Amino acid sequence: MNRVVIASKNKHKLEEIKAILKDFSLDIKSMDEVGLADLEIIEDGNTFEENAMKKAQEVMNASGNIAIADDSGLEVEAIGNKPGVYSARFAGENASDRENNQKLLRLLEEVPFEKRNAKFVSVIAVAFPDGRKLSVRGEILGKIGYEEKGENGFGYDPLFIVEAFQKTFAEMPPSLKNKISHRAKALEKLKNELKKFI
Ligand code: IMP
Repeated sequence: MNRVVIASKNKHKLEEIKAILKDFSLDIKSMDEVGLADLEIIEDGNTFEENAMKKAQEVMNASGNIAIADDSGLEVEAIGNKPGVYSARFAGENASDRENNQKLLRLLEEVPFEKRNAKFVSVIAVAFPDGRKLSVRGEILGKIGYEEKGENGFGYDPLFIVEAFQKTFAEMPPSLKNKISHRAKALEKLKNELKKFI
């Protein structure tokens, strides 16, 4: 059975990726389980694709197994698609979600609702030991609100309004967010693409 290592230390992402891959007969392992808990990968790419592929390739090289990695973030049109690949550290290297959200709100203070377009992006990359690679991208469009709303989720969820539902991601039950999110869309594409590879 093919062994696949998920190049993420985030338990939530691990579970989501595992659930999507359950139909394939794969031996799915976390970095911990293959002795790579201490492997540090510097995310210094300019795009989500570069970062995701770098993580997948480094874990594939270190483990000798197929590796899957993801990179994600928020792009806000009115500020030149920032924070983009800097989403996690928008307000500084160890910034909290709250600090990142407050910075975003400050930058958008004068921006009217119709110009507060944003999208969440999730890129998932796969590196194979024989040199093949693939990457898929999922996106969801929304608007940035004027204040944080809702208690669920993480990151920019309290500010990200999905217009069809008139709710922020943080106001939705996780089961709904996980059906429509950028990550859900990327994972669905991954499933279809992987059928051609495995
Ligand atoms: P990474 O993909 O783990 O590097 O995450 C990048 C950052 O993007 C996170 O720390 C969040 O700030 C943001 N982000 C990515 N996906 C989501 C999401 O689904 N909700 C809220 N914030 C997100």
